[in-house]
Amino acid sequence: MKKNFTTEAINLKNYPLNDNDSIVVMFSKTKGLIRAVAKGAKRPKSKLGARVQMFIANKLMLFEGKNLDTIAEAQSLNTFSKIRNDLDKLSYSMYLAETINNFCSNQNKQDENNEEIYDLIFNAFDKISTAKTKEEVLLSVLKFQIKLMNILGWGIDFKMCSICQKEIETNAVFSFQMGSFLCPKCAKNSPNCIKIHDKIREFMQTLLIFDFNKETKYDSLANLAVLEKCFLFMKKYIDNISHKKTKIFEVLDIVQ
Ligand SMILES: [Zn+2]
Repeated sequence: MKKNFTTEAINLKNYPLNDNDSIVVMFSKTKGLIRAVAKGAKRPKSKLGARVQMFIANKLMLFEGKNLDTIAEAQSLNTFSKIRNDLDKLSYSMYLAETINNFCSNQNKQDENNEEIYDLIFNAFDKISTAKTKEEVLLSVLKFQIKLMNILGWGIDFKMCSICQKEIETNAVFSFQMGSFLCPKCAKNSPNCIKIHDKIREFMQTLLIFDFNKETKYDSLANLAVLEKCFLFMKKYIDNISHKKTKIFEVLDIVQ
């Protein structure tokens, strides 16, 4: 007899298995990244078909399989519906999904961080969906990037120089080669560094420390240009670690 289990999971990817069925890649609260067959999901009027669309959070019952689980029941918890009618929201959500896919596919199934990562994705999609401005969207994506790296053990220390281990007062630079901040003294002989303004460093440190949903004094202050720079900085850092480039923004560049 097949074993079944229940979990909450957010859909990150969806592709056809055959004429009737799809495969859904999801991040689940209890088992991390899982792939499951959604039987009949490609048939018109399939209820399951609607539940297995990208970026929907479901409460699920699944039959455990050797390589693939099978979805027995799905009940949507949040459809994050406003993500789908805005190109910015959609692109950044795809970036989030791709990042999770790149990082979590090799993770241990019993990983104790699964619930924390699930909550982070849920909060990020929720905020992106309900955001009223592009600034709000970017702020949520930035929080996601900084916090995800921290959960996975790749967190950036925004305060200390990684060479002399002293707190950096001012004029910090970031070394992409080392993946860490350096004080101006230690940075002298390090190639491939970029200057990061003290206020930006303080801003990102604040996002790291505060709860996802807690408002900070920066929520209304950070403007679009600053947020875009911070996003690209974190994207480059993450791409460097994963050795995989998230492709979604390259595709958009071509389209535009
Ligand atoms: Zn130093």
